[in-house]
Amino acid sequence: MSRILITGAAGFLGSHLCDRYIKEGFKVVGMDNLITGDLKNIEHLMKLENFEFYHHDVSKYVHVPGELNYILHFASPASPIDYLKIPIQTLKVSSLGTHNLLGLALAKKARILVASTSEVYGDPLVHPQTEDYWGNVNPVGPRGVYDEAKRFQEAITMAYHTYHGLETRIVRIFNTYGPRMRLNDGRVLPAFIGQALRGEDLTIFGNGSQTRSFCYVDDLVEGIHRLLMSNESQPVNIGNPSEITIADFAEEIIKLTGTKQKVIYKDLPVDDPKQRQPDITRARSILGWEPKVTRQEGLKITYDYFRNLPNEELFKDHKDFGKK
Ligand code: UDP
Repeated sequence: MSRILITGAAGFLGSHLCDRYIKEGFKVVGMDNLITGDLKNIEHLMKLENFEFYHHDVSKYVHVPGELNYILHFASPASPIDYLKIPIQTLKVSSLGTHNLLGLALAKKARILVASTSEVYGDPLVHPQTEDYWGNVNPVGPRGVYDEAKRFQEAITMAYHTYHGLETRIVRIFNTYGPRMRLNDGRVLPAFIGQALRGEDLTIFGNGSQTRSFCYVDDLVEGIHRLLMSNESQPVNIGNPSEITIADFAEEIIKLTGTKQKVIYKDLPVDDPKQRQPDITRARSILGWEPKVTRQEGLKITYDYFRNLPNEELFKDHKDFGKK
């Protein structure tokens, strides 16, 4: 029976990965420092014999007793508001944290997959983004703490692969959505749905002409699983190429929720990428993977999740975040 360590286990993606590997019949070790994660996301796993949880910050030395076959490193703040509030932790988890986990992988002879991001392409000058594009990143801008830490993560992961012969995998994740996203983390999808549910106007940053390409979480998890089980040590984009402007996306949310509210415009955040769309040729050819869930289907499931949350969740704000 395989044993897998998943960092960021109580987060949005981490918790879905825990579910997947429990279903695959693995022994799952979850780890999270709970700064942005929430135990509610994995509460249903706690009683299972094949699941154990460590409350730990991977930026500090990581000790896991026993055998490990796989490591998935998914611990990191992942929304622009988060990394503005906790920039140092954001830098540390993907640099020091990744170093610790690579060391652990080496000691355990485990295969490690690290969660990278389309943010390594920055505000891209190539469209759609292929894996061989080196990116356009401002190291000292507000997103620099995330983007550069993730770029360092890729570099050190590749170094462990070439120098130590470690089995490594790098997934570049594009915008992903689904149940268990934090309602108030500032990301556009929970922001719009939360606003619709509270009867507020939808806030478009800039003029809404910037684009994103949204992937439903189940598709992403399938792509990650296929990459983990493949022989590919080069980075692989996983995302949904269906691209949409933020203005059109707001219209889709207005239609979906039936809200009578309108859109209002706010300042565009510094260094906000103008366009983003994954080129998934590599994932298609190496992994035989492509997304299956349409935005219409995925948004409906996600909206049902958010509207069934207890009312107090809707009005919880972001202010205490990061002080834990
Ligand atoms: N955005 C917006 N209104 C919001 C939140 C975000 O218009 O209330 C925009 C944001 O400026 C960006 C896009 O939506 O252009 C996606 O933002 P998000 O924070 O979800 O992720 P990003 O892809 O920028 O990391």
